[in-house]
Amino acid sequence: MQNLSQRDKKHLWHPLTQHKTSSLPVGIVKAKGALLWDDKGNEYIDGIASWYTTMYGHCNETITKAVTKQMQHLDFVMFSGFTHEPAVTLAERLIHILPNNQEKIFFNDNGSTAVEAAIKMALQYHHNKGDKRDTIIAFEDGFHGDTFGAMSASGLSSYNGPFEEFLLKVKRIPPPQEDNIEDVLAQLENIVQHHNCAAFIFEPLVQGAAGMKFHSAKGLNTSIKRCQELDILCIADEIMTGFGKTGANFASENLENKPDIMCLSKALTAGMFPLSVTSCTQKVFDAFLSDEVHKGFFHAHTFSGHPLGCAAALAGMELLESDVILERRAYITQAHKDFIANIQHHPKIKEVRSMGVILALDLNIEMERYGNLRDKLYQFFMERGVILRPLGNTIYVLPPYVITNGELQKIYNTITELLETV
Ligand SMILES: *Cc1c(COP(=O)(O)O)cnc(C)c1O
Repeated sequence: MQNLSQRDKKHLWHPLTQHKTSSLPVGIVKAKGALLWDDKGNEYIDGIASWYTTMYGHCNETITKAVTKQMQHLDFVMFSGFTHEPAVTLAERLIHILPNNQEKIFFNDNGSTAVEAAIKMALQYHHNKGDKRDTIIAFEDGFHGDTFGAMSASGLSSYNGPFEEFLLKVKRIPPPQEDNIEDVLAQLENIVQHHNCAAFIFEPLVQGAAGMKFHSAKGLNTSIKRCQELDILCIADEIMTGFGKTGANFASENLENKPDIMCLSKALTAGMFPLSVTSCTQKVFDAFLSDEVHKGFFHAHTFSGHPLGCAAALAGMELLESDVILERRAYITQAHKDFIANIQHHPKIKEVRSMGVILALDLNIEMERYGNLRDKLYQFFMERGVILRPLGNTIYVLPPYVITNGELQKIYNTITELLETV
């Protein structure tokens, strides 16, 4: 009898995988809290909350109960021409905690499609107003997803290479740091003067896939302000940062000038269900109101606003600001700071940083994003029962809020052991 990994090899094609050289995927049979178990009985700590989705822990009973209850009641109905309680309540709750200029909720089914809808909204917003705008402004090394519009906005060449000539027109600026804000603003000014810019898309404060790179809230804020003066719609991709990871519920809370459009997914449904949101201001929505039918937003995904996803999201939002989770968010934030104080002068570390529950350290070693050495780091952690997915020479930790003190300590110890080994 073959095990899961061997059977997998016959018919499956995995994401982000070079099947010729990669090792077999690990067969996972069970999950609870911050832990996963494989089919050989090994236990792993999920140090990145399965791509930062399962923030309240795997198989969290509050979430599983809410979804079970919903599926016995109303499983699914298409969201064009119909509505339902979970979607309406979720929209009300989201509008309540999102930055206060957000008024409308458009549902999609994953992160990339949330971004895709955001970009199309921005392009059509100008089109509806009879304004021909064709350029998107984005940060260097941003990541916004893998569909064509989202991929166009993404600046990570390891993903985009073969598709470069088929992408939308995008102009890039470096993410502003405290010491280069003037330079970035000059570059932005040059772009807006020479192109018809429709939108500016960014991951606010933290660029996730780029390696948990932080930038200046002040610089971002000034960039948004300049764009909004020219009616360039500002799109905050909070798919990674949303729901408490940076400390605030949303990273955009640190901005004075609020985005016109926001994208949410990942932790939105606590990892239970693929669902996403593109929210926007009344101004954006109003540009689609017309007696001419075609000025509406003719964009849909079959599973838009899925009731099960909405039910999971509602249960997740109950947890987000519960006393238990608030305590854990504060604990992890402080634990990261203490760990940084301990290791920051280690000769193998180039830079170490944290924001909220995000911890990232850049090793003093050059390596390819998906090269051999990076794979060795990954294996080093796996052999010790810790799941971390280094991005090139950046090791990051973004644990579920419910991780225990002991589990978090084990992650730190394993990183320390690695520093002594590499
Ligand atoms: C993961 C992610 C996406 C893409 O979401 P998918 O659900 O994987 O399509 C987009 N933007 C950011 C910032 C992300 O972290």
